[in-house]
Amino acid sequence: MDNISQIIADGKKLAAQSADTLFLQQHITELRTIIRFHEHRYYVMNDPLIADFEFDQLYKALEKAETANPSLITPDSPTQRVGSGVTKQFKTVNHLVPMLSLENSYNAEDLYDWDRKARELSGLQELTYCVEPKFDGASISLIYENDQFTRGATRGDGVAGEDITLNLKQIRSIPLSAPFSQYGIQQIEIRGEVLINKENFRKFNEGLAEQNLPPLANPRNAASGSLRIKDARLVGKRNLEAFIYHIAYMQTSEQHEAIGSHGRGLEILWELGFRSPVHEKKVLNGIDAVIQFCSEYEAKRDELPYEIDGLVIKINELSIQEKLGMTTHHPRWAIAYKFKARQATSRLLQVEFQVGRTGSITPVAKIEPVPIGGVTVASISLHNQDFIRDKNICIGDQLLVERAGDVIPYIVKSFPELRKGDEQTITFPENCPDCHTPLIKPADEAVWRCPNDLCPAQVVERIIHFASKDAMDIRGMGDALVRKFHEKGWLSDIPSIYSLPWDEIRKLDGFGTKSVNNLQEAIEKSKSQPLFRLINALGIRYIGETTAKTLAQAVNHLLDLSRMEKEQLQNIEDVGVKVAESIYQYFRQENNISMLQALESAGLQLNSIKQEQVSDGNLTGKTFLFTGTLFKLKRSEAEAMVEAQGGKILSGVSSKLDYLIVGEDAGSKLEKAKKIASINIMDEDGFLGMVGKKA
Ligand code: AMP
Ligand code: ZN
Repeated sequence: MDNISQIIADGKKLAAQSADTLFLQQHITELRTIIRFHEHRYYVMNDPLIADFEFDQLYKALEKAETANPSLITPDSPTQRVGSGVTKQFKTVNHLVPMLSLENSYNAEDLYDWDRKARELSGLQELTYCVEPKFDGASISLIYENDQFTRGATRGDGVAGEDITLNLKQIRSIPLSAPFSQYGIQQIEIRGEVLINKENFRKFNEGLAEQNLPPLANPRNAASGSLRIKDARLVGKRNLEAFIYHIAYMQTSEQHEAIGSHGRGLEILWELGFRSPVHEKKVLNGIDAVIQFCSEYEAKRDELPYEIDGLVIKINELSIQEKLGMTTHHPRWAIAYKFKARQATSRLLQVEFQVGRTGSITPVAKIEPVPIGGVTVASISLHNQDFIRDKNICIGDQLLVERAGDVIPYIVKSFPELRKGDEQTITFPENCPDCHTPLIKPADEAVWRCPNDLCPAQVVERIIHFASKDAMDIRGMGDALVRKFHEKGWLSDIPSIYSLPWDEIRKLDGFGTKSVNNLQEAIEKSKSQPLFRLINALGIRYIGETTAKTLAQAVNHLLDLSRMEKEQLQNIEDVGVKVAESIYQYFRQENNISMLQALESAGLQLNSIKQEQVSDGNLTGKTFLFTGTLFKLKRSEAEAMVEAQGGKILSGVSSKLDYLIVGEDAGSKLEKAKKIASINIMDEDGFLGMVGKKA
């Protein structure tokens, strides 16, 4: 090849390459924008537009493109939240502006006093207040510079906190970048609260219970503990959320928009992609309206998905805030209105021992009934022997009990100093309270167990768990009903749920035709629950909902697990030694296998139906057009089937068309298609055969 043609050839190659890179860059940027949009819909707006698995697919596509082209990764790419590694020790960092505490108020009187002082200091007749929830979590401070999230810290002593940037990047309601520059903001320090909602807190404690660990007392402890985990990836699994409610400091260019009021600040934060309490806040004139609002809000407290311990009342105008300034402890322009504490003291009367579904023996404290936050508490879990020892609890002791929202009551502490001398130590039974089998305690565990698999108490608990909401979700099959049917001998094991003697049940007192029919229907419906629910429902030790999902994805059929060695099990994402061992043991037991077979014969779903398989179907890349009247399907249904299997609908006949599906009275489209040899012409039955539906 001569020189000139070499140059031409090289040039062509380079041009093609750079066109590719450009295209790739564009593709990656687009994916990021789409992912950020959906992250925002889900985590900030709480209003997702796509299914979780669809989001996962977008995310995986981005990951794939970036892995192949590491030079195109940017620090604010959604993929950069994860895998940030382990922090040995958190650095101490100074806040740009100190994080102060809030003055507290507990009643209308306190608020009237505070309002009077604020009006005097401001010289105004009436003040406008912005009232918002006092989120009960862990406070954080975030810095953005040139639109990028650069540092996040805990409150610490208010002047300096710990640098937890890597952990905060795991929280998806915190944007990695935000267009502050639109408002002329070059650097900003914003404040907020990280929390874990009640539902996730409950699940988190369930996870601890599965591992025989005592639960955390309240969501606040869970949130602040989570922020200080050394391995950032684990933080991502805690489902933390962040509300951002305060702009503490700004460095702006000359032409910046004056924010004016606190309420406007919240709106700007929201527009920029933060979860600020714009919808939760209320701007009110005068303290009377504020007091009214506070009492209404307190009444609604339990309806919120997360914990709040009060409201914060802030003077809305920033210029007045500035005028009032702050003391060394707290701003004069804000005050917290604290809700009634949900703690009470009561006496421990006796301890009962309950048998769980895995045979674990849980001591339960029976206390003198005491109302806490509108609910009467009479019994509380004592978890295990270690808990009793650590909290120094004896029968007859005064106990401090807390009930955080609708969360299970928890014993905060005992008061040994109040003992009179007739208190008794709590002694553990040596035999199962139900089947009297001698209890055992594995050396590395805190819990005593009944080793008898057929122990009636365990069987009942297993059935209750199987039917519960997060498992097979059999409505109407609660505690009481399971116990009753077990006593009658109708529920001897899990499969017997599917062969209940309905005629007998109909004869029972208190079972109307309607409720029996509903129960029957709920049981029938449970047969088609997805595999992960069944796995969760089995109550295998250490396997909760999350692991159940991973396992369901990893197999085609549940019994695949029975053929896997421990090492293979450990190769499944998130399955560690302990979990692998537990699965392995479960599937080595003959009675478990025969139970699963019985369930399959009863019609339960043991196959794993993977959502990806449906969307990435056999029609991927194929194009379709329908013409004429279809008989078995509506046009829209037929089109949806094509799309569900990865095909595409075209609007007209062209050489790009692969299939023309012809119904009755097809017209010009059919004529045109006949002239293009590459188009397959097919009738409705042919189409149904192709998409795997019987004609
Ligand atoms: P305290 O710790 O009781 O002095 O209350 C002050 C703390 O309340 C602050 O440090 C924040 O962490 C927290 N807080 C929760 N929600 C808000 C809110 N909407 N505005 C201000 N502070 C809040
Ligand atoms: Zn037993």
